[in-house]
Amino acid sequence: MKDGRKVGCVVVAAGRGARAGLGYNKAFYPLAGRSVLSRTLDALTDSGCIDELVLVLSEDDFNAYEELTAREGRNPLVARVVKGGSTRQASAHNGLRALSEDVNIALVHDAARPFVSREMIDAVLDGVIQFGAAVISTPVSDTVKETNAQGFAVRTPDRASLRAVQTPQGFRLGEILEAYDWAERENVAATDDASLYEKRFGPVLLVTTPGAGRNVKMTTQEDFARAEERLCPPRVGMGYDVHRLVEGRKLVLMGVEVPWEKGLLGHSDADVALHALMDAMLGALALGDIGHLFPDSDDRYLGISSLKLLEAVRDRVAEKGYRVGSADVTIICQRPKLAPYIRAMRETTARALGIPVDCVSVKATTTEGLGFEGEGAGIAAQAVTMLVKGAC
Ligand code: MG
Repeated sequence: MKDGRKVGCVVVAAGRGARAGLGYNKAFYPLAGRSVLSRTLDALTDSGCIDELVLVLSEDDFNAYEELTAREGRNPLVARVVKGGSTRQASAHNGLRALSEDVNIALVHDAARPFVSREMIDAVLDGVIQFGAAVISTPVSDTVKETNAQGFAVRTPDRASLRAVQTPQGFRLGEILEAYDWAERENVAATDDASLYEKRFGPVLLVTTPGAGRNVKMTTQEDFARAEERLCPPRVGMGYDVHRLVEGRKLVLMGVEVPWEKGLLGHSDADVALHALMDAMLGALALGDIGHLFPDSDDRYLGISSLKLLEAVRDRVAEKGYRVGSADVTIICQRPKLAPYIRAMRETTARALGIPVDCVSVKATTTEGLGFEGEGAGIAAQAVTMLVKGAC
């Protein structure tokens, strides 16, 4: 509810993130296929509450940022990228100075919090408009102890009065700049923007929203792992395919050649079972189907082994942060008997997907002589797969 006020947001990404143990800036960590930084910028942009972004980076990361934008796209609201300072405080100060002069409300946000939402930003903006400064926060669920130098608890504050403070933190631009300039002159240090405001101007409103608990700061490897689980819920897909049986072709099912007097007709090796499986994998992520991906008008796919196509589909799925958790394929075929080949089919497919063989099930059934499968005119296959987070 910003009512025509211009809102600028400084995104601070100048830290080294030593606790993440990555050896590079954690803002560049590919979280389920998209960097933490791009996800944070997306979330701020998607809120619809912000007019301008200023990104603060260590100078060492300027090239990495250019490479990132080439890969993941440039966020249209990023007006300027400025150099960070030796502390978070100096970095935020540089960012605030780089906001356009006509910005009314300045937010400061950690690049390592990609789960910021519109509700949180709205709550902060409302607080700034009413009271001059507001910060998103969450109630504390653990009991907090103050300790002495020997590690003994010396005080137990009332938990009900405690809040864990996050970002975004919001202020009137003129006031927060004045607070930062004052702190620089007077050598006052603080771990967050609100502390400087408090020292200079007085109390900051602590606001919260129902989802604020999810606004975690990516700090350790465990935080990344939990975030990836949230971003990659399991996905289920199904596939179905039919190919005609003709003389003079090899019969290939799940990547295994089955000796038989006929084979399946198709542009590729016509491996009907792998085709069904690939369509299930693509369907799980709404990525279309293999007809779109590998059109039969394209000579590159003439006679190609469907295992090669499966590897390409596996890679597409991996780009989205997923791998096959389980696959169950049913081949509907009157003859030949497939039982002797099932184990090899499972192993071949599991190898191509890079997953354990017990994650791949292959079953064969007849139709009691009914229909085109029963008459031996063709073979059908059905597949169901569950994709799980992986390769992110
Ligand atoms: Mg097919």
